[in-house]
Amino acid sequence: MATVQIEVPTSARERKRNLLDFADWTADEIGALFDTADVMAQVLTRTIKKVPALQGFTVGTLFFEDSTRTRLSFERAARAQSADVISFASGGSSLSKGESLKDTLRTIDQMQADLYVVRHACAGVPHQIARWTEASVVNAGDGRRSHPTQALLDAYTFRGRFPGFDGFAGKRLAIVGDVMHSRVARSNVELWRKLGGEVVLCGPPPLLPPDVAPGVARTHRLEEALEGAHAVMALRLQRERMASPLLPSATEYVARYQVTETALELAHPDALVMHPGPLNRDIEIASEVADGPRSVIEAQVAAGVPIRMAVLYTLLVGKR
Ligand code: ASP
Repeated sequence: MATVQIEVPTSARERKRNLLDFADWTADEIGALFDTADVMAQVLTRTIKKVPALQGFTVGTLFFEDSTRTRLSFERAARAQSADVISFASGGSSLSKGESLKDTLRTIDQMQADLYVVRHACAGVPHQIARWTEASVVNAGDGRRSHPTQALLDAYTFRGRFPGFDGFAGKRLAIVGDVMHSRVARSNVELWRKLGGEVVLCGPPPLLPPDVAPGVARTHRLEEALEGAHAVMALRLQRERMASPLLPSATEYVARYQVTETALELAHPDALVMHPGPLNRDIEIASEVADGPRSVIEAQVAAGVPIRMAVLYTLLVGKR
């Protein structure tokens, strides 16, 4: 008697893959993510901005630290692909009643989500959670360590907006401000270099110590960092991650490190200005620059949705 072979689709949990940082992602895989994001961006221009790609999947957003852009855009990205979303915010949870992170995760994991998006003020928590669960995990920011989807949307924005973009090779990104406390800076360094671009880091000595991103060009002079840069990213002073004040005076910081129109005259004529948000206007970036013609700050926020759609899609149903 003939036997019929039924192919049982493997569940997302069996096909688990994470995006914790870019260590196990190749430049080609990242290029493929950008191409997928282009398709997702098309979907978002339709009247009905929804596809059934992730129907039947559940995405859990686990935010142990505040967020506006990241959380909203992950939830939008999941729903635009018809996934179900369950949300956890540490405020108002049993964590405040003394429950451990592991027990909280075990409880949440009973809801059988296929993928968790995790943000935590402590570095390494998403990695730890990835070891505790069979679901895929996306790092949405851990301490000052990494924020890979922010770096992806930054590079994706540059790829789409830099006039005549022909690859990252020979393109220089200047990151200015509180580099020391910035997971965005660290992820951008990791990604930009993986894609073949160059990075220069700039900030005052207390916020740019020698051990931040070894091997990456660094300067304490804004003019030097901006000279010829193709993209300039301003970072806010992340005071919530400073144990004690690290700068003697905000006025001096503004005078020496604020990204202004005058300082930008040194940059490449087509240079784009970026900021991961939230902005502290007229501190790390002049308002006229933030709202000016080189600014792609709003485009970065908008790019967060197709990029995160692409990440969710790739991890949940992409080929292995
Ligand atoms: N939103 C970014 C982050 O979560 C940057 C910042 O907070 O300054 O790291």
